[in-house]
Amino acid sequence: TQHPTADPAAGAAVKAADRAHVFHSWSAQGLIDPLAVAGAEGSYFWDYDGNRYLDFSCQLVNTNIGHQHPKVVAAIQEQAARMCTIAPGFAVDVRSEAARLVAERTPGDLDKIFFTNGGAEAVENAVRMARLHTGRPKVLSAYRSYHGATATAINLTGDPRRWPSDTASAGVVHFWAPFLYRSPFHSGSEQQECERALAHLEDTIVFEGPATVAAIILETVPGTAGIMVPPPGYLAGVREICDRYGIVFVLDEVMAGFGRTGRWFAADHFGVTPDLLTFAKGVNSGYVPLGGVAISAEIAATFDERPYPGGLTYSGHPLACASAVATINAMAEEGIVENAARIGEQVLGPGLRELAERHPSVGEVRGLGVFWAVELVKDRATREPLVPYNAAGEANAPMGAFAAACKKSGLWPFVNMNRTHVVPPCTVTEEEAKEGLAILDEALTVADGFTV
Ligand code: PLP
Repeated sequence: TQHPTADPAAGAAVKAADRAHVFHSWSAQGLIDPLAVAGAEGSYFWDYDGNRYLDFSCQLVNTNIGHQHPKVVAAIQEQAARMCTIAPGFAVDVRSEAARLVAERTPGDLDKIFFTNGGAEAVENAVRMARLHTGRPKVLSAYRSYHGATATAINLTGDPRRWPSDTASAGVVHFWAPFLYRSPFHSGSEQQECERALAHLEDTIVFEGPATVAAIILETVPGTAGIMVPPPGYLAGVREICDRYGIVFVLDEVMAGFGRTGRWFAADHFGVTPDLLTFAKGVNSGYVPLGGVAISAEIAATFDERPYPGGLTYSGHPLACASAVATINAMAEEGIVENAARIGEQVLGPGLRELAERHPSVGEVRGLGVFWAVELVKDRATREPLVPYNAAGEANAPMGAFAAACKKSGLWPFVNMNRTHVVPPCTVTEEEAKEGLAILDEALTVADGFTV
């Protein structure tokens, strides 16, 4: 990996230009100080001051094949030279090839692909398809979920960032999904949590009126809200409930898909096939914006004779599709999904559990593949979060100190609420994973200082 050469003056100019005109996501514009990034390669990126960071965030958990994969960069360059853009209504080689590669990997008969520019648009369209397919209005989604920041997607989202903007819920009903560590059902075991969560979901449907429920949407493994791997039997149980009541089952794999959990899709761990599956992020490692909905034969047939009322100017954009084709092929050729599984089983899982034994600030470690959460607590006995949940999303001292300690030692963490998510690229090497664990070990000593 290339080593950065320091050029602080250039960095200051980039930052000043950013501050002059860029309006940033999820931020109080006057309170932020974005890092000026000079370059990125593989598992690292670097700033203008000569600091290199091991990217344990994968940006927004999307650079699954790392930064600047040469095959993907070349594919984008070749496609740009050949044909930069063409409207979605035409048939083009690169779009149909991307659709074929995605369809071949999604479970079951999810064989038609509607392309979008990202995850939220995929969710919007999945919900629209489910409503039109069933003729029913309501959609059930889980608390502790993230589905995107556009109108319907933010309403479906079950995390505190929804509260300030949730003005119209338009048929969205929230329910509790299983999460034993902070069980909404006060369960004592995974099996009990699973049974109670399924009973609660069915009660919710019956109370709402099954004939009014179009869809249930779940992240296969909820990501942003804390990487909660569902207990065995839960997703199969939801599948059964959906079948019983004629409800469309949507699995949102925008974050969990494309190798993140050590399988092509997280659903593969559970042997469950949804009716609609949303994807984005890892499909092309975020090199060009791309997302989509994989659609079952039955739902696709709803729109055989009747037009689907939805579309996007950049649906299946050639540059995005070219990068998806190259990404998926590279993942297959280079055994990248298998690498994610191996690193999870042999390095990250055991390494993080070992950290949990030694650090009193670690309440729980959970995950799969290169998709882990470390939950930090003030008190292991009461499970009180290291920092109380903060609905306003304000920066908070203990987690801020932990994140600063990581960065100072050259690791870029993904910190959310009282958790740090350990989400390196699927291409991460054993040495890099161990380097990251060593830095987390040091930084957790800082977090330990805030425990009772
Ligand atoms: N769904 C899930 C599960 C996600 O994790 C995200 C983004 O993090 C989204 C949807 C929204 O995707 P996007 O930000 O591409 O709109």
